[in-house]
Amino acid sequence: MRYISTRGAAPVLTFGEAMMTGLARDGGLYVPETVPVMDKAEIAALAGLPYEEIAFRVMKPFIGGFFADDEVKGLIAKAYTGFGHAARAPLVQLGPNHFLLELFHGPTLAFKDFAMQLIGQMMQAALAKTGERITIVGATSGDTGSAAMEAFKGLANVDVFIMYPHGRVSEVQRRQMTTPSESNVHALAVDGDFDDCQANVKAMFNDFDFRDGVRLAGVNSINWARVLAQVVYYFSSAVSLGAPHRAVSFTVPTGNFGDIFAGYIARKMGLPIDQLVVATNQNDILHRALSTGDHRTNGVKPSISPSMDIQVSSNFERALFDAYGRDGKAVASLMDEMKSGGFTISQGALQMLQGIFTSGRCSEAETSATISATLKATGELLCPHSAVGVKVANDHLGQTPMITLATAHPAKFPDAVETATGLRPGLPPRMADLFERPERVTRVSNDLPAIQALIRERLRR
Ligand SMILES: *Cc1c(COP(=O)(O)O)cnc(C)c1O
Repeated sequence: MRYISTRGAAPVLTFGEAMMTGLARDGGLYVPETVPVMDKAEIAALAGLPYEEIAFRVMKPFIGGFFADDEVKGLIAKAYTGFGHAARAPLVQLGPNHFLLELFHGPTLAFKDFAMQLIGQMMQAALAKTGERITIVGATSGDTGSAAMEAFKGLANVDVFIMYPHGRVSEVQRRQMTTPSESNVHALAVDGDFDDCQANVKAMFNDFDFRDGVRLAGVNSINWARVLAQVVYYFSSAVSLGAPHRAVSFTVPTGNFGDIFAGYIARKMGLPIDQLVVATNQNDILHRALSTGDHRTNGVKPSISPSMDIQVSSNFERALFDAYGRDGKAVASLMDEMKSGGFTISQGALQMLQGIFTSGRCSEAETSATISATLKATGELLCPHSAVGVKVANDHLGQTPMITLATAHPAKFPDAVETATGLRPGLPPRMADLFERPERVTRVSNDLPAIQALIRERLRR
C-alpha cells in the first residue's frame, strides 16, 4: 500500500513513513493510493468477532506488510487493554432505529483514545526496530493532548511535550495531562490561548535545525494512522446491526473532519452506509460548505462543545481531493484561496460530496435541550459533543438504522451537563482518584525560543 499527498507534489510513502511524517512536505495530507474493498462475505464474517479481531481484519490491507500480522495483532491487543468496556465500542439503543456508539470508554474518556493508543504502540514498535528516538510536540485545547500523553507515557523511544493554554482547559482535561508520572511525558501550561500553542508547534516544525535536532514528529488528527484506527468502529457497529445485509447511517459530531472521514473510508471499502451526517455546533463552516458550496471562515465562537470549535477542518481536504477527481493541483489552489478567507466548491465536486454527506447544525440552546431531553427519554447522559450529534441525527431519522457517535464521556464536561440537567456526572470508578493524584506541569510564557530551550534541556536528561 502506497500513500500519496492530496496536493500531488510530495514523495509517495509507505504506511510507516506516512505515520511518522504526518503532514506532507507540499503541505498536503497523505491518503492511500487505492482503497481496498472488502466483499460481502468478508464483512459478514466480522459479525460477533472481538473488537481487536475486527480491527486487525479492517486495517491489515492498509498496513501493507510494514508490520508482520502477529505483530499487528499484538499492538492492537496492547492498545485496547486499558479500555473500561469489554466491547471497546458498545452500542446502546436510544429509540426506534436510533443507536448510540459509545466511544468514551478509553483511558481519557474520549474517542481520540482509539487512534492515539494504537499509534503510540505502532510508533514505538517501528522505532524499537531501528533504535531511533523521536520527540512529539503537540498543542491541545484539551482532548488530543491528554489522549497523546496517556498513549505515549512510559514508551521507551518517544518523548512527548504537550502545550495547552494555561487556565483554559477543563479541570478533568488538565489533570489528565498533569498526573501521569512517567518521565517521558511533559505538560507545558502556556500563558496564551490555543492559537498561540498551535503557532508554536508550527514554528517548531518550520525551524529545520530544531526539527532535525530533536527528531520532531506529530500526532495531530491529520496523521493517516489515526484516521485508519477510527475506520474500525464503523465496521464493528454496522455489522452488529445487520450489515452487510442491511445498510446503516451514521451521524458524527464533527470538528476537524477526521472521525467522519474514517466513515467515508469505511463506505469506500464496501460497508453499506446510506447517509454520513456531519453534525456541527454553532461553528458551522462545514454545514454551510456542504449545503451551499461556500467554504468560508467567519471566526470561532467558543461553545459548550469546545472540541468542535474550529475555524477550518483540516481533514476536509481529503474529501475535497476525491471530489476534485484526485487533482492535487486543484486542491492546492483551493487551499491557497483559503488564505484569503475561503473558496467556492465547484458544482461537480459539490454534487459528489452531497451524494455522500448530509449535514446539520446544533445551537448552544439546542445542545443543552438535547442533553436534558435525552436523559428524560432514555436515561443516557450525553456529553455536549454527543448531544450535537443526537440533535442532528434526530432531524435525519428514517428507514435506515441511525448510529450516532458519542465522542466523549459526560464526566469530561461536567459543567455543561450539570447546567442542562442538574446532575453532575461522576468519573468512572477506575479513575475516581484523578483529583487526588499529584500534578506535574511547567508553566511557560508564550516565548518560542524559551520553550525550545526547555525541550532541548529536558531531552538531555
Ligand atoms: C476531537 C473531538 C471531536 C471532533 O472530531 P474530529 O475528528 O476533529 O471531527 C468531537 N468530539 C470530541 C469529544 C472530540 O474530542
